[in-house]
Amino acid sequence: MLTEEIKAVIRATTDGVAAARPGFRRRRSQNLLIAEIAKTCAGEHGAQKHLIAEAPTGTGKSLGYLLSAYPVAKATQRKVVIATATVALQEQLMAKEIPAVLAAMGVSDRPMLAKGRQRYVCDFRLFQAPASNPDQTDLGFDDPGDDALWSTKPTADEARMVESMIAKRKAHQWTGDMDEWPEKLTPSVQEAVTCPASQCAARRCPNFSTCAFYQARGALQGQLDCGQPESAIGRYGDGAGDADLAGAQ
Ligand code: SF4
Repeated sequence: MLTEEIKAVIRATTDGVAAARPGFRRRRSQNLLIAEIAKTCAGEHGAQKHLIAEAPTGTGKSLGYLLSAYPVAKATQRKVVIATATVALQEQLMAKEIPAVLAAMGVSDRPMLAKGRQRYVCDFRLFQAPASNPDQTDLGFDDPGDDALWSTKPTADEARMVESMIAKRKAHQWTGDMDEWPEKLTPSVQEAVTCPASQCAARRCPNFSTCAFYQARGALQGQLDCGQPESAIGRYGDGAGDADLAGAQ
């Protein structure tokens, strides 16, 4: 039920965000979005538990769903899971929108980011990548074989980068999060050392116990199970692990 207390929190949080952002402009379409999401999350529509809302760029959709869903979830002790279409929006939410809403609410809850598997290195492929380099095998570049990891011949710099990644992983000096790698990754390296869900052997993989993706996903799942964090962000379509995440809310 959308109580007067929750409505008051939504209004106060919206006012707080507006006050902290000089350029913030109240829009009728955003207010409508906030009201409908809040009502849906609070169960005001009875058996109708889902809401599909479409709005053009500039409506303020991100703040709209945060300003409505989060106060309702907080009041009813639930979690908010956000699935975005792009990595850029994930980063925008983590860096700007969520901190703004939490600050306006005066809470110190911690959001967590659930990245897709291809944002983590696949150790199984990484450790094979040098041997899969056509320069280091008997295979000709034009005949890379079925299990070659490189779709294009790696440059000397790419080969060096992969060796450096292997060294860092073996020395436990890199979590395997590709976004944390200090150098600019080329598409070729990215493709060679990450693994789509369809090619991941999961528990049958010899590197499963140290797999960067499964470790990150396990840590997030563990925190969700024990009540933290209060919000999590994933990218829509990131893979099977996301189904577990959504089910934990
Ligand atoms: S479990 Fe999958 S993603 Fe992880 S190292 Fe093995 S093959 Fe790669």
